[in-house]
Amino acid sequence: MSTTNYLIRNARILGGDPQDIRITDGVIAEIGASLEAKGEREIAADGLIALPGLVDLHTHLREPGREDAETVLTGTQAAAKGGFTAVHAMANTFPVADTAGVVEQVWRLGRESGYCDVQPIGAVTVGLEGKQLAELGAMADSAAQVRVFSDDGKCVDDAVIMRRALEYVKAFGGVVAQHAQEPRLTQGAQMNEGVVSGELGLAGWPAVAEESIIARDVLLAAHVGSRLHICHLSTAGSVEIIRWAKSKGWDVTAEVTPHHLLLTDELVRSYDAVYKVNPPLRTEADVMALREALADGTIDIVATDHAPHPAEDKACEWAAAAMGMVGLETALCVVQSAMVDTGLMGWAEVAERMSAKPAAISGIPGHGRPVSVGEPANLVLFDADYRGEVNPDAFATRSRNTPFRGMDLPGRVVATFLRGNATVLDGELV
Ligand SMILES: [Zn+2]
Repeated sequence: MSTTNYLIRNARILGGDPQDIRITDGVIAEIGASLEAKGEREIAADGLIALPGLVDLHTHLREPGREDAETVLTGTQAAAKGGFTAVHAMANTFPVADTAGVVEQVWRLGRESGYCDVQPIGAVTVGLEGKQLAELGAMADSAAQVRVFSDDGKCVDDAVIMRRALEYVKAFGGVVAQHAQEPRLTQGAQMNEGVVSGELGLAGWPAVAEESIIARDVLLAAHVGSRLHICHLSTAGSVEIIRWAKSKGWDVTAEVTPHHLLLTDELVRSYDAVYKVNPPLRTEADVMALREALADGTIDIVATDHAPHPAEDKACEWAAAAMGMVGLETALCVVQSAMVDTGLMGWAEVAERMSAKPAAISGIPGHGRPVSVGEPANLVLFDADYRGEVNPDAFATRSRNTPFRGMDLPGRVVATFLRGNATVLDGELV
């Protein structure tokens, strides 16, 4: 990592008028027109959008245990290439991140990587088994300062365990992030339950399996006065429940993935397991409801659910294939395609939903801050005019399971700065 100071020329902050941004000792020192150079390295950013460094609340880094799919190093490199300066590492590793020891290991690996900050998420239950609360307090008190807890990949389906977790995290301002999937209703489920699953003869994954858990959990969170976050909303009905919970003033937030904003279950007709994901791709009507909810703030944030898998775990028959998609390196492009180019959101809203709000939900310090003088220089420069095909061979992630391969997606991350250090320049890792 260099300790170079930078003078960024003619960047459009949140899509506004071109301005120069001076970065001195890791901090945004000055913003204005035609700033005088003081020996900095100059970056020509004509036409580029400047956004605060993106923050992902839902990333699977796979280390420890599945380093064949991803490591903290390769995952944070992929994050930097996607414009992220902080990611939250999900707990479903081997061993599970259910103790202070494991979350501190992940946190240290993140600090050593240098490409982006890594904030570990702690498991809600021991071994993600849903039976016994993990050491939430010890993880909160550890060097990793865990505040977000999730059994993601599995649902905390026992209502009593969920209630206890919600009560417990109140003591230190934590939040429980629920993977909403009623297990009995989704036993053996392979794809969204609907017209396409009927035609293909694949076991259906009904919307109600997601919606019933969300309904239960917003009520539980309200009952105990705690904070709840819902991972990867995928149905129009889920949006309605969150909208209702927020109208009650309950402390509930929700996320949507880029892939659920763009893709539908029609793609499953190809039987290409790259489209197999949890929760499954839904219908066009669901996609439209999710977009509208993200635009009006019912859905608070975009989170990638970056889920790398080695080729052999995807190159098999549909039923046997692993669920999940990589997403860090395409997230901003997909959001531009689904939300900005459609006129649903501007760049200020993108910054809110991909940086400020996810940072606020987790409480991670120094991230999600405005692009303003005196703030840490966590920045991304984005070329929204770029057009090109997604080429997974150029990805930094160790895995290639992207549903966007060969697709025309707008935009390209040109540069990323983490506390004033360039992690990406000219679209390449530094
Ligand atoms: Zn999940």
